[in-house]
Amino acid sequence: MLSSLRSIVQEVNTAKDLKAALDIIVCRVREVMLTEVCTVYMRDPSLQRYVLLATEGLNKAIVGQYSLAVGEGLVGHVAQREEPINLEDASSHPKFQFLPDSGEEKYQSFLGAPIIHHREVLGVLVVQQTKRRRFDESEEAFLVTVSAQLAAVIAHARATGAIARLPGMPVSGFESVKFTGVAGAAGVAIGTAVVASPPADLHSVPFRSCSDPISELSFFNECVQAVREDMLYLGSKLSHQLGSGEQALFDVYVGMLDDKELRKEVSDRIKTGEWAQGAWSAVILSHVQTFELMEDPYLKERAADVRDLGRRVLAYLQEANHEVRKYPDNMILVGEELTAAILGEVPEKKLCGLVSLKGSSNSHVAILARSIGIPTVMGALDLPFTQMDGLELIVDGYDGIVYTNASKEIYKHYEDIFEEEKLIARGLESLRDLPCETTDGYRIPLLVNTGLMADIVRSLDQGAEGVGLYRTEVPFLLKDRFPGEEEQRLNYRSQLEAFHPRPVTMRTLDIGGDKSLPYFPIEEENPFLGWRGIRVTLDHPEIFLVQVRAMLKANEGLDNLQIMLPMISSVPELEEALELIYRAHDELVEEGLQAELPPIGVMVEVPSAVYQAAELARRVDFLSVGSNDLTQYLLAVDRNNAQVADLYHSFHPAVLRACMQVVQAAHKEGKRVSICGELAGDPGAAVLLIAMGYDSLSMNATNISKVKSVLRFVSMEQAKTILDRVLELESDRHIREFIEDSLSDVGITRLFRSGSSY
Ligand code: PEP
Ligand code: MG
Repeated sequence: MLSSLRSIVQEVNTAKDLKAALDIIVCRVREVMLTEVCTVYMRDPSLQRYVLLATEGLNKAIVGQYSLAVGEGLVGHVAQREEPINLEDASSHPKFQFLPDSGEEKYQSFLGAPIIHHREVLGVLVVQQTKRRRFDESEEAFLVTVSAQLAAVIAHARATGAIARLPGMPVSGFESVKFTGVAGAAGVAIGTAVVASPPADLHSVPFRSCSDPISELSFFNECVQAVREDMLYLGSKLSHQLGSGEQALFDVYVGMLDDKELRKEVSDRIKTGEWAQGAWSAVILSHVQTFELMEDPYLKERAADVRDLGRRVLAYLQEANHEVRKYPDNMILVGEELTAAILGEVPEKKLCGLVSLKGSSNSHVAILARSIGIPTVMGALDLPFTQMDGLELIVDGYDGIVYTNASKEIYKHYEDIFEEEKLIARGLESLRDLPCETTDGYRIPLLVNTGLMADIVRSLDQGAEGVGLYRTEVPFLLKDRFPGEEEQRLNYRSQLEAFHPRPVTMRTLDIGGDKSLPYFPIEEENPFLGWRGIRVTLDHPEIFLVQVRAMLKANEGLDNLQIMLPMISSVPELEEALELIYRAHDELVEEGLQAELPPIGVMVEVPSAVYQAAELARRVDFLSVGSNDLTQYLLAVDRNNAQVADLYHSFHPAVLRACMQVVQAAHKEGKRVSICGELAGDPGAAVLLIAMGYDSLSMNATNISKVKSVLRFVSMEQAKTILDRVLELESDRHIREFIEDSLSDVGITRLFRSGSSY
């Protein structure tokens, strides 16, 4: 059954529309399960009824004509109970309701499984048989698995509006299409979608048309010819090293490129006005799939060759197009998995919004987007992104929503918010040169998190009092090789100079997790628990030492550097890192460097570091809490996974208690303690953090004035009273509500929009 399941999934995923997908499901499930009937019922959201939309075995004339309410009949019963129902004799069940004109009277056994997506019952999948029998466990499991697959297909169709166009689906007035993801960076953007397609990725080529099919066709032929020549050249170059088997592979590749049928399929699509990249990728992917579906293991393996060849030609097609790429003003970059490197490639001035299918609010690209103030939606999993190029989009970065084909009312709603945002920003500008001080005179430095060059200007504009976290990996991500010592020195020097005499806290390279360098790939099953941060650099002292040397040299004559170590999880790890830093400093002093050893700190972002905060603090000059990772590791919720985004709670009592414990431990050792995770930039959390005793807060530039405007409105006494009560509360939701109520009691009403959906 497993291989049948795989092939059903593949067929469904390539179906041309939802109707075809449903027909494939009912036909194939009936065949594989050897039943007489298979039927799909789908929920009509406007009527809250389950409509019969596809069947194999029942009278097809009733498709779209018949529906059941929740709890009505066996189908409604499955939907209500949200679990499979398996009956040997359906007609004796009290819920049984006979479908008139369906022809189902002869069927006795019934197995129905709910189709559930994100806890919502979207439909019911049913099989029936004349013979009285109970379906066995493996059959039940099979139907449940098919339902889960179907759920994703239906959710996608619902999001694109394809459901409304289904014959028989009585949904009316469906206009705007809304995709829900996760709020990545606050704000609203209205603009034109540009699909980001990483090099040679056959799956992410946007759907686009070409204006001149004749020249597009000759361009395609040139690219195929170029790959053909590459193959012939490679084959002859390696001819003495390769055996005849491997050598034959080059001939196979050339043969595929010469294949008339393959070329014709692509040419036919181009002649209808599709651009070469799209035509080539679609044809290649369908051939890959054909090979993958083959039973013969040898032929199955050939799928990899076709894919490889596909990528090679695509790379040529993309490269030639690269230089002529024109970006529209007010561009919204849409991609399967946006990264810092992709961001670096587009003109920043034109960029007004970001949408990523993968990733979540604490993915690094979302953090970067917040730092440059670009409204962002992450985890928009159902977005058919390759079909979005050139569409007008609205990005609601407050609620994590993307609209296409929006109605006039929706446009008006978001244009109003856009204007309101401008007013708020103007109001906050006046705070720039005022200190961050509570009403009873407590000063708390607000530092900034940086990474991109553009952050420097923005941070200074916002009145940042120094850098609490410079993510040094960001410039590494934008390169195509490790930057050398002098290149790094110049980069660090410009950061130190820009903020001088204010402190700049540079974190040593923190790669791994969702930050992998294109030229140093790390492939792991579980990257957030794997080779990350200090673990990588301790294994590669040559990389670590070059970086530390560059930092120390950049600091000469300025003396505002602080070095910070990421992902420390034990004392020996810290001691090893410290040894390397001391060694680099000693060597530089011997070479003539005139600079003291700068303050060194540790990031507390792993639970073990919370429990050993005192031992760590004793060995360094300061601690800084990385609440982004600390939240993910304490709650066991991947920060990069949109599926569990609603479990990622930075106000979880465990996170707040951990933050409290770290301050107490650091202060007991007489050491400074800061916090540089996104929590510090939340105005409500900032009130708690100053009450806990944090010596400084470090956040993205955009939030500095928001946090300042709240902290200048409360007294330390009020903050402590709020904290005392918060520490007694038992859930994230209660804590958030309590903070909001308490701030409104002291006169701070909803200063910042946190929800805006239409
Ligand atoms: C953190 O984990 O809180 C942190 C500041 O580091 P990053 O987000 O870069 O992992
Ligand atoms: Mg971190």
